[in-house]
Order: sequence, then C-alpha cells, then structure tokens
Amino acid sequence: MTDDIMTPEMRDARYVMHPLTDARANLQSGPLIIDRGEGIHVYDLAGNRYIEAMAGLWSVGLGFSEPRLVAAATRQMERLPYYHPFSQKGHGPMVDLAERLVTMAPVPMSKAFFTNSGSEANDTVIKMLWYRANALGQAQRKKIISRHRAYHGITIAAASLTGIPANHTGFDLPLPGFLHLTAPHYRRFALPGESEEDFATRLATELEELILREGPETIAAFFGEPVMGAGGVIMPPRTYWEKIQAVLERYEILLVADEVICGFGRTGCMFGCETYGIRPDVMVLSKQLSSSYLPISAILLNERMFEPIADLTHSIGTFGHGFTGGGHPVAAAVAIETLRIIDERDLVARAAEAGAWMQERLATLADHPLVDEVRGVGLMAAVELTPARLADPPAWPTGALGRRAALLLQQQGVISRAMGDALAFCPPMIIDREGIDAIVAALRTTLDLCLKEATP
Ligand code: PMP
Repeated sequence: MTDDIMTPEMRDARYVMHPLTDARANLQSGPLIIDRGEGIHVYDLAGNRYIEAMAGLWSVGLGFSEPRLVAAATRQMERLPYYHPFSQKGHGPMVDLAERLVTMAPVPMSKAFFTNSGSEANDTVIKMLWYRANALGQAQRKKIISRHRAYHGITIAAASLTGIPANHTGFDLPLPGFLHLTAPHYRRFALPGESEEDFATRLATELEELILREGPETIAAFFGEPVMGAGGVIMPPRTYWEKIQAVLERYEILLVADEVICGFGRTGCMFGCETYGIRPDVMVLSKQLSSSYLPISAILLNERMFEPIADLTHSIGTFGHGFTGGGHPVAAAVAIETLRIIDERDLVARAAEAGAWMQERLATLADHPLVDEVRGVGLMAAVELTPARLADPPAWPTGALGRRAALLLQQQGVISRAMGDALAFCPPMIIDREGIDAIVAALRTTLDLCLKEATP
C-alpha cells in the first residue's frame, strides 16, 4: 500500500516505535492519535473528545490551550531562539528562571542546573553526587538508595534508581550500587495490626540497617519522590519522611527530592516537600515547570552539594557535564510564564480545592465490588482494582483488569493510565468540579461494565 492511502494510524504502525508500548500490539492496530487540545480536553483525529485525566504524563498543569505560553515562546523565538550555558555563557531567561526557582524553593538552595527531562536531571544528580564524593576525597561514597516502585526515569542511571520491574527487565538493570528499599505502601505492605506510624518506623529501621550493612561511608544519597507517582500514586504513611530524614541526618547522607510530578501544586502545596515536611539537599523539577509545552528540567542544589563540586571544577578547570539543550531559552521563557500564571491565578490553592473535591468524589467508588483502594493527595489519585472480592473471581493476570478498565474508560471519553491494576488520575490543575464529576461518572460506568464482563 502506498503512503497516501494509508491512514495515519497505519503509517504510525509502519514508521514509529513507541516508548512504554507493546511494539507488536502497535504494529497490529496503531495508536490513538491525538490531534488537538483545548483546556482539559484533547481530541483524536475523528474528532472524539477526551478529558485528559492524566494531564498528558502528569504534566500539562495549565491545560492544552494556554495562549500566554504560546506568546512567551514566540517572543523568545524571535529574540534569541537558542543559546547555551557552556563555557561561562548565559542568557536572560535562564538567569530569570534560576533566580525564581532558587528563591521559591521551600528550603535554602544555592544554584539551579538545567537539563531537558526528568531522567537527564536524575542522571545528572547521580553524576554530581559521585563528583562531590571525589571532591571530598571520599571515593568510596558512591552507592545510592532508592525504593521499590520508585520512578525516577529511564536513562541508565535514572532507570537504576527506578524500582519498577518493567523498566529493568530486558535491560540488564539496575546497575550495581543502586539499593532499593520497601515501597511505603501501607495498605499493601503493613503487617497485620501495624499502625501507619509503626509501619513508618519499620521502614526507617530497614533504611538504617541497610546503611549499617553497606557502611555509612559508602552511601552518597537517598532519592525519593514525596509521593510516588508512576509506581502507583503511593502516599507516604504518617511520620514516614520525618523518620527517614532522622536516619539520613544521623549518617550524613544527602537527600534528593524528586519533585518531577509533585512540584508546582500537584499535592496541594507548591512542592511535595512542603506537604510532607521534607528538607532536601537537592530538588529535581520538570513536567509542570513548563506545563510540558516544551521540555525542560531543573536541579536545585544547596550549598552542601554545590560547594565541594565547585572546588573540583576549579581544580580540573571545568565541570565536564552538560546538554546542548540545557536551559534552552525558549523552554525557560515558557517556564517563567507558567510560574507567573500559577501565581497570578492562585492555581496552587485552586488545585488544592479541586483536589479535595476529586478525592472526595473518587472515594464514593470505594464500595464498588471491583475497587480495592482509593488513594491520593491533592490532584493526584489512584483507584486500585481487584477481582478478588467477587464470588467467582476470574483468573486474570496482574494488570489485565487495569488495562481493560483504562481502555473502557477511554471509550467513555476519559484518558487515564493503568499502573498494574490501579488507574491513575492526575488532571490538569485548571480542572473544575464539573470536570472532576465527569471523570468520576465515566469511571463508575466503566467499573460497572468491567463487573458485567467479570461475572458471566
Ligand atoms: N521522576 C519522576 C518522579 C517522574 O515521574 C518522571 C517521569 N514520569 C521522571 C523522573 C522522568 O522524567 P522524564 O520522562 O522527563 O525523563
């Protein structure tokens, strides 16, 4: 068949290899192709409208048609479409954005370093930690602690931090030196009768035992998302961060907060670190930073992190790391405008309010026979499904129910994302009660359809 009589879906199947996709399934049917966006909605090529209840990839905070971001990008394109920060060069948008981020951080930070994605940022932090250890004459301090179910990206080091089997299997990952602790999922991993506080204490003890076993002098840092996102929207149990931080402080181990999803209002405060009282040495930011209109990520470093690194760059003569697109002026201009809009429209407070409504409405589904747990904070949530409570449960492999429900929900006009058997909801921060009600109504219909399929 020649290209001009093939549909876009067929041409996609022929020419595109997709990330996070079963490649054979895409060869068979092609993808859902999204054509345009407006507010919280996107439209496919046939004109069908969907609520984007995942804000793309947890990221399009301002929705899909914010004209001020387009104008900011256009202005910057016309003035200076590209420049870089290598070799002691700079440009205005990067200076403005760095100043804004460092001064708005919830704990004292010293510098911002710019990259293009969450993965690049986390890889960069790992390199900075190794570099810092060498700068301090602590060549053995290279191990990194993370958690099962964590998601920190997919480049080689970031994927090693990630604790999700699908991101490791087939890739010979994680690399040695990346250590994973129990995911702080109370409902799944607490012992019978264990309180949230006792569960948190047990996980902090697990951390301390790992540190002592490995040798405190060999550990560079602990990485954590304030709330785990792609691992299933897992909120820390009460007192978890307080107890984890007490252990890290005892052994002088640095803390890196991966705020790639949580940052800029998602958990109901500007940063997830504020929601949970986290005092990190390094913060990693991306996604809602530019509402994902252009790729950009930022690393914020405190003095404890920056100073030894600066010393070593001085003796070598350079910091031998950086990306061509890092701190791109157009992406930085879009990020500055995004932050301005978040402020002017008081979007963090509005997202907190909309988030409370979303949690309340989703909780009404908790007694549905297919629902195991409804959990969330702010404007991020997961509805965990299980066939286990049915009288005659079908023998579905893990993930089958989640995948089926996500597809049926899409047919109801709502895009969510299946993570195992949990469906995630993380809509644009501009969503109102009406949009949330529409998501919850479509989800109820979907669950009823699934139930019908599961009970012959
Ligand atoms: N960290 C977290 C917490 C994330 O959720 C993600 C992406 N979902 C990343 C890092 C990686 O970001 P990217 O896809 O931009 O590499």
